[in-house]
Amino acid sequence: MPFERGRFAPSPSGPLHFGSLIAALGSFLAVRSQGGQWLVRIEDVDTPRSVPGAADHILHVLERFGLIWDGPVLYQSQRTDCYQAALDVLKTAGLVYPCTCSRREITQHSSGGDLIYPGTCRNGSGRTDRAPAMRLHTAAQPIQLVDGIQGVYRQCLESQVGDFVVRRADGLFSYHLAVVVDDSAQQITQVVRGSDLLSSTPRQIYLQQCLGLPTPRYSHLPIAVDRQGNKLSKQSKTMPLDERYPTVELFAALEFLGQRPPAELVRSTPVTLISWALEHWRPKQIKAELNKPCATLSCLRTCEEKA
Ligand code: GLU
Ligand code: ZN
Repeated sequence: MPFERGRFAPSPSGPLHFGSLIAALGSFLAVRSQGGQWLVRIEDVDTPRSVPGAADHILHVLERFGLIWDGPVLYQSQRTDCYQAALDVLKTAGLVYPCTCSRREITQHSSGGDLIYPGTCRNGSGRTDRAPAMRLHTAAQPIQLVDGIQGVYRQCLESQVGDFVVRRADGLFSYHLAVVVDDSAQQITQVVRGSDLLSSTPRQIYLQQCLGLPTPRYSHLPIAVDRQGNKLSKQSKTMPLDERYPTVELFAALEFLGQRPPAELVRSTPVTLISWALEHWRPKQIKAELNKPCATLSCLRTCEEKA
Protein backbone atom coordinates (compact mmCIF):
# COMPACT_ATOMS: atom_id res chain seq x y z
CA MET A 1 0.00 0.00 0.00
CA PRO A 2 1.45 3.44 -0.86
CA PHE A 3 2.18 5.68 2.08
CA GLU A 4 -0.86 7.63 3.27
CA ARG A 5 -0.88 11.06 4.82
CA GLY A 6 -3.91 12.95 6.15
CA ARG A 7 -4.38 16.15 8.06
CA PHE A 8 -6.62 18.21 10.31
CA ALA A 9 -6.53 21.90 9.44
CA PRO A 10 -8.45 24.03 11.95
CA SER A 11 -8.75 27.79 11.68
CA PRO A 12 -7.91 29.34 15.07
CA SER A 13 -10.98 31.56 15.16
CA GLY A 14 -12.34 30.09 18.39
CA PRO A 15 -12.47 26.96 20.53
CA LEU A 16 -13.04 23.55 18.96
CA HIS A 17 -16.67 22.48 18.84
CA PHE A 18 -18.30 19.15 18.18
CA GLY A 19 -18.15 19.68 14.39
CA SER A 20 -14.37 20.18 14.53
CA LEU A 21 -14.02 17.02 16.60
CA ILE A 22 -15.83 15.10 13.83
CA ALA A 23 -13.32 16.41 11.26
CA ALA A 24 -10.34 15.78 13.54
CA LEU A 25 -11.42 12.28 14.54
CA GLY A 26 -12.60 11.29 11.04
CA SER A 27 -9.35 12.36 9.37
CA PHE A 28 -7.30 10.76 12.17
CA LEU A 29 -9.07 7.38 12.00
CA ALA A 30 -9.12 7.31 8.19
CA VAL A 31 -5.37 7.65 7.82
CA ARG A 32 -4.10 5.99 11.00
CA SER A 33 -6.22 2.90 10.38
CA GLN A 34 -4.19 2.53 7.17
CA GLY A 35 -0.90 2.93 9.04
CA GLY A 36 -0.39 6.44 7.65
CA GLN A 37 0.52 9.75 9.24
CA TRP A 38 -1.83 12.40 10.58
CA LEU A 39 -0.63 16.01 10.49
CA VAL A 40 -2.06 19.17 12.03
CA ARG A 41 -1.96 22.51 10.26
CA ILE A 42 -3.15 25.74 11.86
CA GLU A 43 -4.96 27.70 9.16
CA ASP A 44 -4.25 31.21 10.38
CA VAL A 45 -3.81 32.69 6.90
CA ASP A 46 -6.67 35.10 7.64
CA THR A 47 -4.70 36.82 10.39
CA PRO A 48 -7.38 39.39 11.36
CA ARG A 49 -9.80 36.52 12.15
CA SER A 50 -7.31 34.57 14.27
CA VAL A 51 -8.10 34.75 17.96
CA PRO A 52 -4.98 35.08 20.17
CA GLY A 53 -4.41 31.86 22.12
CA ALA A 54 -6.90 29.84 20.04
CA ALA A 55 -4.25 27.82 18.19
CA ASP A 56 -2.54 26.75 21.42
CA HIS A 57 -5.89 25.89 22.92
CA ILE A 58 -6.84 23.73 19.92
CA LEU A 59 -3.55 21.80 20.19
CA HIS A 60 -4.06 21.35 23.93
CA VAL A 61 -7.59 19.99 23.38
CA LEU A 62 -6.40 17.57 20.67
CA GLU A 63 -3.81 16.19 23.09
CA ARG A 64 -6.35 15.91 25.86
CA PHE A 65 -8.60 13.97 23.49
CA GLY A 66 -5.80 11.54 22.61
CA LEU A 67 -5.48 12.83 19.04
CA ILE A 68 -1.69 13.04 18.81
CA TRP A 69 -0.30 14.27 15.50
CA ASP A 70 2.83 13.34 13.58
CA GLY A 71 5.63 15.80 12.91
CA PRO A 72 5.70 19.56 13.48
CA VAL A 73 2.55 21.70 13.30
CA LEU A 74 2.48 23.92 10.22
CA TYR A 75 1.27 27.53 10.63
CA GLN A 76 -0.07 29.24 7.53
CA SER A 77 0.86 32.66 8.91
CA GLN A 78 4.52 31.67 8.42
CA ARG A 79 4.16 30.58 4.81
CA THR A 80 3.55 33.82 2.93
CA ASP A 81 6.62 33.30 0.70
CA CYS A 82 5.29 29.94 -0.53
CA TYR A 83 1.89 31.44 -1.35
CA GLN A 84 3.57 34.35 -3.16
CA ALA A 85 5.64 31.87 -5.21
CA ALA A 86 2.44 30.06 -6.22
CA LEU A 87 0.80 33.35 -7.17
CA ASP A 88 3.85 34.17 -9.32
CA VAL A 89 3.42 30.85 -11.16
CA LEU A 90 -0.22 31.75 -11.88
CA LYS A 91 0.83 35.25 -12.98
CA THR A 92 3.46 33.92 -15.36
CA ALA A 93 0.88 31.59 -16.85
CA GLY A 94 -1.44 34.58 -17.42
CA LEU A 95 -4.12 33.00 -15.25
CA VAL A 96 -4.69 35.81 -12.74
CA TYR A 97 -5.80 39.41 -13.11
CA PRO A 98 -6.34 42.37 -10.78
CA CYS A 99 -9.91 43.17 -9.76
CA THR A 100 -11.03 46.35 -8.04
CA CYS A 101 -14.75 45.57 -7.76
CA SER A 102 -16.31 46.15 -4.37
CA ARG A 103 -18.58 43.52 -2.87
CA ARG A 104 -21.49 45.84 -3.56
CA GLU A 105 -20.63 46.14 -7.25
CA ILE A 106 -20.46 42.36 -7.56
CA THR A 107 -23.81 41.94 -5.77
CA GLN A 108 -25.40 44.37 -8.22
CA HIS A 109 -24.27 42.25 -11.19
CA SER A 110 -25.07 38.91 -9.62
CA SER A 111 -28.58 37.48 -9.78
CA GLY A 112 -29.42 36.35 -6.23
CA GLY A 113 -28.30 33.11 -4.58
CA ASP A 114 -24.56 32.61 -4.23
CA LEU A 115 -22.34 35.48 -5.23
CA ILE A 116 -20.97 34.66 -8.67
CA TYR A 117 -18.29 37.01 -9.94
CA PRO A 118 -19.40 38.10 -13.42
CA GLY A 119 -15.87 38.64 -14.77
CA THR A 120 -16.10 42.44 -14.79
CA CYS A 121 -12.33 43.05 -14.60
CA ARG A 122 -11.21 40.22 -16.88
CA ASN A 123 -10.03 42.75 -19.45
CA GLY A 124 -8.73 45.34 -17.02
CA SER A 125 -10.45 47.27 -14.24
CA GLY A 126 -9.49 50.76 -15.33
CA ARG A 127 -9.33 51.93 -11.73
CA THR A 128 -6.21 52.96 -9.87
CA ASP A 129 -7.76 54.44 -6.74
CA ARG A 130 -8.28 51.08 -5.01
CA ALA A 131 -5.86 48.27 -4.15
CA PRO A 132 -6.78 45.30 -6.35
CA ALA A 133 -7.54 41.73 -5.37
CA MET A 134 -6.11 39.04 -7.67
CA ARG A 135 -8.62 36.70 -9.30
CA LEU A 136 -8.03 33.40 -11.04
CA HIS A 137 -9.47 32.90 -14.52
CA THR A 138 -11.87 29.94 -14.32
CA ALA A 139 -12.80 27.65 -17.19
CA ALA A 140 -16.09 26.37 -18.59
CA GLN A 141 -15.19 22.66 -18.40
CA PRO A 142 -16.82 21.08 -15.36
CA ILE A 143 -14.58 19.76 -12.59
CA GLN A 144 -15.62 16.36 -11.30
CA LEU A 145 -14.50 14.44 -8.28
CA VAL A 146 -15.52 11.14 -6.77
CA ASP A 147 -15.81 11.85 -3.09
CA GLY A 148 -15.09 8.91 -0.79
CA ILE A 149 -18.35 9.49 1.11
CA GLN A 150 -20.57 11.79 -0.94
CA GLY A 151 -19.96 10.16 -4.33
CA VAL A 152 -19.73 12.00 -7.64
CA TYR A 153 -19.65 15.77 -7.35
CA ARG A 154 -19.43 18.11 -10.26
CA GLN A 155 -19.17 21.83 -10.60
CA CYS A 156 -18.67 24.27 -13.41
CA LEU A 157 -16.50 27.01 -11.94
CA GLU A 158 -17.12 29.66 -14.54
CA SER A 159 -20.91 29.60 -14.31
CA GLN A 160 -21.38 28.46 -10.71
CA VAL A 161 -18.58 30.26 -8.89
CA GLY A 162 -16.93 32.72 -11.25
CA ASP A 163 -13.29 33.83 -11.25
CA PHE A 164 -12.33 33.63 -7.59
CA VAL A 165 -9.94 35.60 -5.40
CA VAL A 166 -6.51 34.11 -4.73
CA ARG A 167 -5.05 37.21 -3.07
CA ARG A 168 -7.31 39.68 -1.34
CA ALA A 169 -7.18 43.45 -1.75
CA ASP A 170 -5.68 43.69 1.76
CA GLY A 171 -2.74 41.57 0.57
CA LEU A 172 -3.74 38.35 2.38
CA PHE A 173 -3.75 35.12 0.39
CA SER A 174 -7.03 33.27 0.07
CA TYR A 175 -7.86 30.09 1.94
CA HIS A 176 -8.10 28.18 -1.37
CA LEU A 177 -4.59 29.09 -2.49
CA ALA A 178 -3.09 28.42 0.94
CA VAL A 179 -4.79 25.06 1.40
CA VAL A 180 -3.71 23.80 -2.03
CA VAL A 181 -0.09 24.92 -1.59
CA ASP A 182 0.06 23.40 1.89
CA ASP A 183 -1.64 20.08 1.09
CA SER A 184 0.99 19.65 -1.61
CA ALA A 185 3.91 20.82 0.56
CA GLN A 186 2.84 18.40 3.29
CA GLN A 187 2.37 15.59 0.73
CA ILE A 188 -1.21 14.97 1.80
CA THR A 189 -2.71 11.98 -0.02
CA GLN A 190 -6.20 12.08 1.56
CA VAL A 191 -8.27 15.05 2.68
CA VAL A 192 -11.05 14.17 5.14
CA ARG A 193 -13.08 17.17 6.33
CA GLY A 194 -16.60 18.52 6.79
CA SER A 195 -19.04 18.54 3.88
CA ASP A 196 -19.38 22.32 4.17
CA LEU A 197 -16.15 22.33 2.14
CA LEU A 198 -17.37 20.00 -0.62
CA SER A 199 -18.43 22.90 -2.83
CA SER A 200 -14.94 24.44 -2.39
CA THR A 201 -13.19 21.31 -3.60
CA PRO A 202 -13.57 21.92 -7.36
CA ARG A 203 -11.85 25.31 -6.87
CA GLN A 204 -9.02 23.58 -5.07
CA ILE A 205 -8.70 20.87 -7.73
CA TYR A 206 -8.64 23.55 -10.43
CA LEU A 207 -5.89 25.40 -8.57
CA GLN A 208 -3.90 22.16 -8.30
CA GLN A 209 -4.23 21.73 -12.07
CA CYS A 210 -3.14 25.34 -12.72
CA LEU A 211 -0.13 24.93 -10.42
CA GLY A 212 0.82 21.45 -11.64
CA LEU A 213 0.24 19.93 -8.19
CA PRO A 214 -1.18 16.46 -7.43
CA THR A 215 -4.82 16.08 -6.34
CA PRO A 216 -5.35 14.13 -3.12
CA ARG A 217 -8.40 11.91 -2.57
CA TYR A 218 -11.29 13.70 -0.87
CA SER A 219 -13.88 12.47 1.63
CA HIS A 220 -16.39 14.91 3.05
CA LEU A 221 -17.92 13.96 6.37
CA PRO A 222 -21.50 14.88 7.26
CA ILE A 223 -21.84 18.13 9.12
CA ALA A 224 -22.86 18.02 12.75
CA VAL A 225 -26.09 19.81 13.45
CA ASP A 226 -27.57 20.89 16.75
CA ARG A 227 -31.03 19.93 17.98
CA GLN A 228 -32.60 22.79 16.02
CA GLY A 229 -31.03 21.48 12.79
CA ASN A 230 -28.51 24.33 12.56
CA LYS A 231 -24.99 23.61 11.39
CA LEU A 232 -22.47 23.97 14.18
CA SER A 233 -19.82 26.57 13.62
CA LYS A 234 -17.24 28.40 15.67
CA GLN A 235 -19.19 31.58 14.94
CA SER A 236 -22.36 30.27 16.52
CA LYS A 237 -20.26 29.27 19.56
CA THR A 238 -22.67 26.44 20.27
CA MET A 239 -21.52 23.33 22.06
CA PRO A 240 -17.80 23.95 22.51
CA LEU A 241 -16.18 20.65 23.44
CA ASP A 242 -16.44 19.78 27.09
CA GLU A 243 -12.82 19.21 28.01
CA ARG A 244 -13.80 17.59 31.29
CA TYR A 245 -15.34 14.61 29.51
CA PRO A 246 -13.19 13.82 26.46
CA THR A 247 -14.33 10.19 26.31
CA VAL A 248 -18.00 11.16 26.29
CA GLU A 249 -17.41 13.64 23.46
CA LEU A 250 -15.34 11.10 21.49
CA PHE A 251 -18.01 8.47 22.01
CA ALA A 252 -20.69 10.80 20.62
CA ALA A 253 -18.44 11.73 17.69
CA LEU A 254 -17.89 8.04 16.85
CA GLU A 255 -21.63 7.41 16.92
CA PHE A 256 -22.17 10.44 14.70
CA LEU A 257 -19.70 8.86 12.24
CA GLY A 258 -21.81 5.67 12.18
CA GLN A 259 -19.42 3.64 14.36
CA ARG A 260 -20.81 1.51 17.17
CA PRO A 261 -18.50 1.56 20.15
CA PRO A 262 -19.55 -0.79 22.98
CA ALA A 263 -21.47 1.15 25.64
CA GLU A 264 -19.06 0.34 28.46
CA LEU A 265 -16.24 2.21 26.68
CA VAL A 266 -17.95 5.51 27.46
CA ARG A 267 -16.38 5.14 30.92
CA SER A 268 -12.91 4.33 29.57
CA THR A 269 -10.10 6.70 28.63
CA PRO A 270 -9.67 8.56 25.32
CA VAL A 271 -6.70 6.32 24.49
CA THR A 272 -8.71 3.12 25.01
CA LEU A 273 -11.68 4.40 23.02
CA ILE A 274 -9.47 5.57 20.16
CA SER A 275 -7.62 2.29 19.94
CA TRP A 276 -10.99 0.49 19.76
CA ALA A 277 -12.04 2.91 17.00
CA LEU A 278 -8.82 2.35 15.03
CA GLU A 279 -9.33 -1.38 15.12
CA HIS A 280 -13.02 -1.20 14.22
CA TRP A 281 -13.04 1.75 11.80
CA ARG A 282 -15.79 1.20 9.19
CA PRO A 283 -15.89 4.27 6.90
CA LYS A 284 -18.74 2.71 4.89
CA GLN A 285 -21.00 3.25 7.89
CA ILE A 286 -20.69 7.03 7.59
CA LYS A 287 -23.93 8.42 6.16
CA ALA A 288 -23.69 10.55 3.02
CA GLU A 289 -25.72 13.72 3.05
CA LEU A 290 -28.64 13.79 0.70
CA ASN A 291 -28.38 17.42 -0.31
CA LYS A 292 -25.26 18.20 -2.21
CA PRO A 293 -25.30 21.93 -2.87
CA CYS A 294 -24.58 22.84 -6.49
CA ALA A 295 -24.74 19.31 -7.85
CA THR A 296 -28.29 19.81 -9.02
CA LEU A 297 -29.42 18.72 -12.44
CA SER A 298 -29.85 22.26 -13.73
CA CYS A 299 -26.26 23.10 -12.75
CA LEU A 300 -24.97 20.03 -14.54
CA ARG A 301 -26.91 20.93 -17.67
CA THR A 302 -25.40 24.41 -17.69
CA CYS A 303 -21.95 22.82 -17.42
CA GLU A 304 -22.56 20.40 -20.22
CA GLU A 305 -23.93 23.04 -22.55
CA LYS A 306 -20.92 25.25 -21.90
CA ALA A 307 -18.24 22.60 -22.08
N1 GLU B 1 -9.46 25.66 7.96
C1 GLU B 1 -10.71 25.14 7.49
C2 GLU B 1 -11.75 25.22 8.58
O1 GLU B 1 -11.42 25.25 9.75
C3 GLU B 1 -10.62 23.69 7.05
C4 GLU B 1 -9.83 23.57 5.81
C5 GLU B 1 -9.70 22.17 5.27
O2 GLU B 1 -9.85 21.18 5.98
O3 GLU B 1 -9.38 22.10 4.08
O4 GLU B 1 -12.92 25.25 8.27
ZN1 ZN C 1 -13.59 43.22 -10.71
